[in-house]
Amino acid sequence: MSLDILILGGTTEASALAPRLAGDARFEATLSLAGRTVHPKAQPIATRSGGFGGIEGLARFLRARKIAAVIDATHPYAAQISAHAVAACADVQIPLVSIVRDAWHPQAGDRWQDVRDMAAAAKALGDAPRRVFLGLGRQELSVFAAAPQHRYVARVIDAPDTVALPPDLKLLQARGPFDRAAEIRLLTDEKIDIVVSKNAGGDATYAKIEAARALGLPVLMVARPDKPAGHIVRSPDEALAWLERFHHDAAPRSLRGV
Ligand code: NAP
Repeated sequence: MSLDILILGGTTEASALAPRLAGDARFEATLSLAGRTVHPKAQPIATRSGGFGGIEGLARFLRARKIAAVIDATHPYAAQISAHAVAACADVQIPLVSIVRDAWHPQAGDRWQDVRDMAAAAKALGDAPRRVFLGLGRQELSVFAAAPQHRYVARVIDAPDTVALPPDLKLLQARGPFDRAAEIRLLTDEKIDIVVSKNAGGDATYAKIEAARALGLPVLMVARPDKPAGHIVRSPDEALAWLERFHHDAAPRSLRGV
């Protein structure tokens, strides 16, 4: 018996889970991406792209595709899709498992200032011009147009299409993971004196935090949003273990030899 599973992705967790479900006869998994990245990494399972059209659209998709369970493997700052997943799965009455990455915690030598959101980060940079590294998504860059006195270096996967960007902005296009030595070099070469970061958790983008620590630079750490969740697991491994139990419990007793 094969169960249809929807993975809400766009993260390293989803990329780790997809190959482990590929070719597993117990599951027919589909990976859903928002469609923000122009050339997402190819995955060995069926992939769809673009929004569902709110809670109703997602619920319609789940019914039409007879999805048996949803794995929410979205980024800690993607709160809306998770809220939609909670509501749609409740409506359709199927289980939702949410992979929640642990946040980073400050270590000795870290100089973090917690800020509520991106607008608060732009304000906290202060009046005097600074050289700022933005390790954020391209959608967030326009917020810093409100603080045009600073020189920004922003690293993004795809170039932003918004016109409301800070005037002195250098864009670097690259996809993680990044390593500590290269991040130290980058922050030094660009004469960065402050870093703005989300508390993404995980390894892929942590090197900039380690580099800031090594160089004694302050970090404005933007708080995680409230992100609704279903049954919480901490890793792709735990999600897979949950799916295996789910399949075992869903399979007719005769097929299990009971
Ligand atoms: P969001 O604010 O939570 O979602 C906005 C809308 O985008 C949702 O209502 C939904 O549209 C659509 N959407 C989001 N994720 C989707 C998915 N996996 N499949 C289909 N539709 C999706 O999300 P976001 O912060 O813009 O992030 C978008 C995607 O990028 C997410 O998949 C996330 O995992 C990934 N990502 C985000 C960040 C970040 O910092 N936010 C970082 C790395 C990766 P409808 O309402 O039309 O269904």
